[in-house]
Amino acid sequence: MADCIFCKIANGEIPSNKAYEDDKVLAFYDLDPQAPTHVLIIPKEHIASANDINEENASIVAHIFTVAAKIAKDLGIAEDGYRIVNNCGDNGGQTVKHLHFHLLGGRSMAWPPG
Ligand code: AMP
Ligand code: ZN
Repeated sequence: MADCIFCKIANGEIPSNKAYEDDKVLAFYDLDPQAPTHVLIIPKEHIASANDINEENASIVAHIFTVAAKIAKDLGIAEDGYRIVNNCGDNGGQTVKHLHFHLLGGRSMAWPPG
């Protein structure tokens, strides 16, 4: 989608520090990390937010979680645990309108979130 920063990262127009890539998803390190390990996992297809997940495209979410588990193991945070976060819409704190999941690890996380 034109003017979508994560579509541009997905197609290589904007560079990123990649953690994982396949034909359906890209994972890259967040520019403003909130934990010692902070990776964003995005579908290459433009999906604006969790509000736009439906029966036709939902399989990508299962794939993203499978990839998250693999990245967590590869980066050595699986055993201690980690958090996967999706921010949806204004109240959820979503700033980039392309579906993405934050994989955060390397420190203990507080609950409830702010
Ligand atoms: P959210 O607030 O959930 O929409 O998350 C958007 C995330 O994208 C933030 O954590 C930003 O730091 C991150 N971000 C924005 N632009 C880039 C970029 N070019 N490369 C890596 N991370 C980015
Ligand atoms: Zn996009």
